[in-house]
Amino acid sequence: MVRAVRWFLLFCVLAVAVIELKARFDRRPQDLPWTALRLDDPVGRFTAGKIAALGEAPAQCRALLAAAGTRDRAAPPRRPAPTCGYDDGMILAGGNARQGGFAPAGLVTSCPVATALLLWDERVVQPAARRHFGTSVTAFSHAGSFSCRRLYGRASGAWSEHATADAVDILGFRLTDGRTVSVLRDWPGSGQDAAFLRDARDGACRLFTTVLSPDYNAAHRDHLHLDTAYRGPGGWRACR
Ligand SMILES: [Zn+2]
Repeated sequence: MVRAVRWFLLFCVLAVAVIELKARFDRRPQDLPWTALRLDDPVGRFTAGKIAALGEAPAQCRALLAAAGTRDRAAPPRRPAPTCGYDDGMILAGGNARQGGFAPAGLVTSCPVATALLLWDERVVQPAARRHFGTSVTAFSHAGSFSCRRLYGRASGAWSEHATADAVDILGFRLTDGRTVSVLRDWPGSGQDAAFLRDARDGACRLFTTVLSPDYNAAHRDHLHLDTAYRGPGGWRACR
């Protein structure tokens, strides 16, 4: 009899633990690999992987951007060579959901990169600008996305994520008061500009699967390389 009571109590404790654990996970879908990506959820452990996976679901990706209130438009497919090009390009528009525009305007990226940039702007870059400068970012200065090339422009070897527009190179930021923050000029410093750039880089690591900054190597001394290479649901990520 005593034994039966013990087993019953043990069962009760386990049942409560399971229910509590499930409730905890239900409150944090961004920390579960199998839940659908929702752009209004907080950024979680699997957010970057889910954004990268949108490369296989262009219709879903475009619907998410539209529902988030962006004015981004689908770009015509581009396939200059069998090994490079894209079908899921977006022409990124400033305003509305995107607080910062892009300079030069008319930036085209893959849909996953457009999605990651949207969340980076809203969740990372603008809050960092408010913290460090008491102002906002009006434009992201960039060196483009699509480029039909291999890694580091080599003649052979793996293709760059730029070859499918799944990467973007960010050179710096323009603030509301007209000031600029430049990766090349301000990364080596120790003031607010450098601290802002590091916060922008660190926050990007939670949204893009690959982030390469001047800390990585000299080839990246003047830009942040951000890409959405898909390496599986919980695949490895680079944040350097
Ligand atoms: Zn790059």
